[in-house]
Amino acid sequence: MSAGLGFERLGAGLAELVTFVTTDFLGITRGRSVARGDWETGQSTSCGWCPANTTITPFDLIADGSPFGSRGDLRLIPDRRARFRTHPMGAATPLDIVMSDVVELDGSPWSCCPRAFLKRALADLERETGLSVIGSFELEFSALDTSWPHAPAFSLAAARRADPFGPAVIAALTAAGIEPEVFIPEYGRNQFEITSVPAAALVAADRAVAIREIIKEVAQLQGFRASFAPKTAVQGVGNGVHIHWSLQDRAGAPATFDAREPGRVSKVAGAFTAGIVRHLPALVALTCPSPISYLRLKPHNWSSSYTWLGERDRESTIRICPTFEAGGKDPSKQFNLEYRAADGCASPHLALGAIVRAGLEGIRGHLLTPPIVDGDPTLMSGSELSRLGLRRLPTTLEEALQAFEADATVSGWFDPVFRQAFTAVKRMELKLVEGMDGDTQCARYAEVY
Ligand code: GLU
Ligand code: MG
Repeated sequence: MSAGLGFERLGAGLAELVTFVTTDFLGITRGRSVARGDWETGQSTSCGWCPANTTITPFDLIADGSPFGSRGDLRLIPDRRARFRTHPMGAATPLDIVMSDVVELDGSPWSCCPRAFLKRALADLERETGLSVIGSFELEFSALDTSWPHAPAFSLAAARRADPFGPAVIAALTAAGIEPEVFIPEYGRNQFEITSVPAAALVAADRAVAIREIIKEVAQLQGFRASFAPKTAVQGVGNGVHIHWSLQDRAGAPATFDAREPGRVSKVAGAFTAGIVRHLPALVALTCPSPISYLRLKPHNWSSSYTWLGERDRESTIRICPTFEAGGKDPSKQFNLEYRAADGCASPHLALGAIVRAGLEGIRGHLLTPPIVDGDPTLMSGSELSRLGLRRLPTTLEEALQAFEADATVSGWFDPVFRQAFTAVKRMELKLVEGMDGDTQCARYAEVY
């Protein structure tokens, strides 16, 4: 994974640093750095961390009602298998980050560590069902502060006017060991998307963190900002995070596909999906966790707005994705579903962990595949909506937080300290943007995300 750039080649006055990072439940990646040599030789194996860091709002104020004060200490333990090292074009030194777990001083996982939450969810799923999860995050983002001429949606011109941004992004991601798949000029003005090859769930979430940081750095080096905020203007196109998932059995065989079932969704994947659909109103508190997330989650935005399983429909919240079968390609290996109600303000680990937990609840409850709905819920009568099990997703962060608190299953996945910290920081965030108009809120979030 090393880009092969030796310390000595950086010249006098520059040491290469490696940064131990954690991505908190605001989706913000924070960390501390040590000299690369000290880490590689085993001299530095962890560093200190502070519990109150996790209750800092995106606007750098610690939340009122945080369970953490000035006392307390934790450690960041870097995971050697989760190192992302790359030297983006024009950067003075390589970007070198290692995803880390936050632990108590006795080494036990910290109750508010999103990465530990995902690991535990995956371990429980595997132990109880023999299944593992393969995932991939599709990330949309907006380029801000550019002087580019207007270019049509999805056009070659939209990609080329930004050159060498696309090539630099693909090179930097590849050098970091991420397997980028497609670089897309998206529908929105100056909007792009990057997809990557599916990987084991923990790797996929780690990569989602690294992709955001690498793309932001590449953009900055080229003189503009890349923002993963769910909206950068009220009337603009939203930036979604679409989380693709599929299941594998112990032998590594695909377990999501069954040609005989509705939508070709296997019974076990249907139960997993039903668990997600059942808990969606509470899940969005974790996956769409900012006040401006709800400017995006609206009907007719190709984002998501109802507790809706759809087949190849980009308005649905859980989308059964297409397979490409030309030349006799096997659909079972490609078959996957997509969770569309997530955005860049979410921690990828927490979001995927919550999806896995909800899916496991569905399997435990032997739930049946939800109805696969075709049509526009906004045109359906109340009785049709309830016959199909379609509920509107929360329309504000406060509604989502209330759904989270009211869903004993979802809030029960977390330690009381997590619940207190999470809801305190989110309610403080709501307070800090109160009274700002939507575009000002979007601009504030675009600065941070
Ligand atoms: N930008 C849309 C969103 O907010 C997604 C469009 C697409 O399907 O790629 O999720
Ligand atoms: Mg897209």
